[in-house]
Amino acid sequence: MKMNQLVDALKKWIRGRKEEAEKKEKKKGMISAISREIPKEKGIAASEKAVEEVHFPKDKLEHAGKVEEALKVFSKEKNKERGGQAMRVVPVYNMMILPNSTIYFQIDNFRTLAGKTVEEEDKLLLAVLHKNEVDTKALHKEEVYPVAVEGTIKEISQDGYAVVATGNRVSIEELSQEEGQPLVLKTNPLYDVEDLNQEEAGRKLNEIKEELKDLVGRFHAGKVMAGMIERHKSIQEVGCVLSPWLSINNEERYHVLQEDRLSVRTKMLEQIIYEYIEVTKVTTDARTQQQEDYQKLYKEQALQKQIDYLQKELDEMHPEKVSDLRKFELRIEEAGMNETAKKEATKILNRLKNEGTNGQEAGMLYDYLDFLTGLSWKKEEQKEIDLDEAEKILSEDHFGLKKVKERMIQQIAVMNLKKQQSGSILLFVGAPGTGKTSIGKSIAKALGRKYVRVSLGGVRDEADIRGHRRTYLGAMPGRIMDGIQKSGVSNPVMVLDEVDKLSSSYNGDPAAALLEVLDPEQNNTFTDHYMNVPYDLSDVLFICTANSLDTIPAPLLNRMEVIQYQGYTPREKFEIGKRHLLKKSLKGVGLQAENVELTDEALENIISDYTREAGVRGLKKRLDTLCRIAAVHLVKGKGEKISVGKEDLREYLDMNPLHRREVKEEGKPGIVTGLAWTAVGGEILYIESMFTKGEGKLNITGQLGDVMKESAQIAISLVKSMFPDKAKLFKENDLHIHVPDGATPKDGPSAGITLTIALASLVTGQAVSPRIAMTGEVSLEGLVNPIGGLPEKLMAAERAGVKTVLIPKANEDDLRDVPDEVKEKLQILPIKTVEEGMELCEIHYVKPGVETV
Ligand code: ADP
Repeated sequence: MKMNQLVDALKKWIRGRKEEAEKKEKKKGMISAISREIPKEKGIAASEKAVEEVHFPKDKLEHAGKVEEALKVFSKEKNKERGGQAMRVVPVYNMMILPNSTIYFQIDNFRTLAGKTVEEEDKLLLAVLHKNEVDTKALHKEEVYPVAVEGTIKEISQDGYAVVATGNRVSIEELSQEEGQPLVLKTNPLYDVEDLNQEEAGRKLNEIKEELKDLVGRFHAGKVMAGMIERHKSIQEVGCVLSPWLSINNEERYHVLQEDRLSVRTKMLEQIIYEYIEVTKVTTDARTQQQEDYQKLYKEQALQKQIDYLQKELDEMHPEKVSDLRKFELRIEEAGMNETAKKEATKILNRLKNEGTNGQEAGMLYDYLDFLTGLSWKKEEQKEIDLDEAEKILSEDHFGLKKVKERMIQQIAVMNLKKQQSGSILLFVGAPGTGKTSIGKSIAKALGRKYVRVSLGGVRDEADIRGHRRTYLGAMPGRIMDGIQKSGVSNPVMVLDEVDKLSSSYNGDPAAALLEVLDPEQNNTFTDHYMNVPYDLSDVLFICTANSLDTIPAPLLNRMEVIQYQGYTPREKFEIGKRHLLKKSLKGVGLQAENVELTDEALENIISDYTREAGVRGLKKRLDTLCRIAAVHLVKGKGEKISVGKEDLREYLDMNPLHRREVKEEGKPGIVTGLAWTAVGGEILYIESMFTKGEGKLNITGQLGDVMKESAQIAISLVKSMFPDKAKLFKENDLHIHVPDGATPKDGPSAGITLTIALASLVTGQAVSPRIAMTGEVSLEGLVNPIGGLPEKLMAAERAGVKTVLIPKANEDDLRDVPDEVKEKLQILPIKTVEEGMELCEIHYVKPGVETV
């Protein structure tokens, strides 16, 4: 801006000077200057502002002819005092006032300073103020510097300018100018000491001109300006011309004016001008540099836009050739990420761009972007689910499991109503192969959602759930987010398998991390360490599975709704085998139903003699084996189908029938049948006890846990108190308690009744029939308290050929969950006390203090 105005001003000035020069050629040594008025209220006006306000009249040099006359007025009349009405004193501030120049004032300002009635040809005294603020209507000697310049108003132009031609310098002797009072003014002329070496001055002027021309060469109108500079006739003239742009203050300006010696004044001006040149050069250099930088930036942006546009066109024409970086760019745009994720992804993409695909970190950055943009960030719409249809899907895929199916239908109904996830976290607990995982798949099908299974078995580190921070070498996302990515949606049904196999280590507690994943209050902003941005898990339907509740951390278990899978009866297994498993096995090897003919009797036999399990995994394996044999048969061209009867199983399955865990034929004192619940379902077990010669020591074998050992102590105390006359046996002998199948660890309180009856049988020498099995916790009072896993235990009892089962009275309600076919085959006797149990086992017991007859 500043430079443009300078250029305009100088152009006009050149024009004016040309005319003037032509007319006044004879007037040698005349110095005129274009100056400007600095608004009074602005103080020592910043030169920039001043430049903005500088204006020049179009016909500014029409006055040119009048300069000569002005000079006549102030002819060198030595020591002649002047003063009087015709003279006006005009105070100026921060202007370069030099003798024999032309100075321009804005008319309004000029009138304020010189008075409203000023006219052309009025004589003036330009006096330099000490301070910027002064009352012009009452001006006194003290307020101005002693050296001033005389002048004549040469023109008051229509354009709003007053042109003043200056003459000699004068010294002010007296000054008092007050409104309504006659002006008191006494001055003495001051003469320049003409000590300038004209030759040297001419050379210096030329040097200055060269410098100035070099400077203006950087501006747009450099040539015009250079021509104009050529016309400057003295350094004083140059100083006056540059006045508005000089960064020197009022005092410094006056200092130039008051110097008598022309040589010194010229030197001062020279210095000021060179300073101006240097400062301007630096400023323009910096500005040019800045401009260049900006230009480069704009150019780059424009080019980038063009490249983007062209790239887009190309991408559309050849979608198969879209570059990886571009692919990420598109994926970031389209993924529907939240703000934080988008920011992070863009940041990483920019890093990858800067790094280049061969950079050190490129692989890591690539993997990260691939992962983040591979996730689905969009909220899926909640579909309305047809309950009947869902029910149909569930029952088509799975046989039995009535309770589980009912609960799932409730869940779906709630989700339909609330149009969102129902808050409960489901935990399916049961033996392997009871369909926990596969029903998760059916639920996904019924809900019309994607299914994903995440195994938590063996997870020890928090990082397995929550991911590694990206700073780790080989960092990976946690299993949860990995599962989400595999599902490709934001609302899959996620089965978290084996939560009971989670264990904590020094690397943090994975259960706590899992809790955060599952907690509906927090999981809408789950932040995987690898991703480092929050992800909304609130639409995911989590289903956890476990074989046993014992090892699930309590805080986690508290949040879950436990749904028990009890294991199947042989009848159920038969149906599952026939309706589902065989079909699956056939499909697995690419056979049709007609290729394998399996008789019902054979299937029953596989279940009874070739598997021993609560679920159906073993059964599925056996059927798979049969189907593979059929496949070989078919491929070898031995026939279209194989028939499998009961008698072929030994050969086809290539294994001996499993030793059936059946109850013993005969009972022996001290040995009683118990019922246990293990991770693989129910089992029968024997509690064996024996006295050996000794001194009252207790020896327990069979890998019994602490709780079970305590149950043994309770049993001993109870038996001692119930049979006081036999108590000495415990003192005189060592007691050995053993629970066979020694390799399997056993624990829990439910063997309390069995241990007590076994010891009672031992001390009384009365055998209990092995076909009576029992389960129940016992208190020192002799009460039988409730236990868990009753259905599995009863099923195991039935499988093993037990006829009668003693159960705690408080567990009677659980019988509802026991399949009818099991209940039909067993005599189930609820008991409240140990005494009742003994009675039913026919152990003769006499209450202390009661005489027997
Ligand atoms: P879990 O998760 O309880 O260990 P799975 O879900 O893996 O058991 O089940 C093992 C196999 O048995 C699967 O092929 C499953 O389809 C089948 N299965 C289990 N229960 C049933 C059932 N009630 N009806 C049909 N198939 C079943």
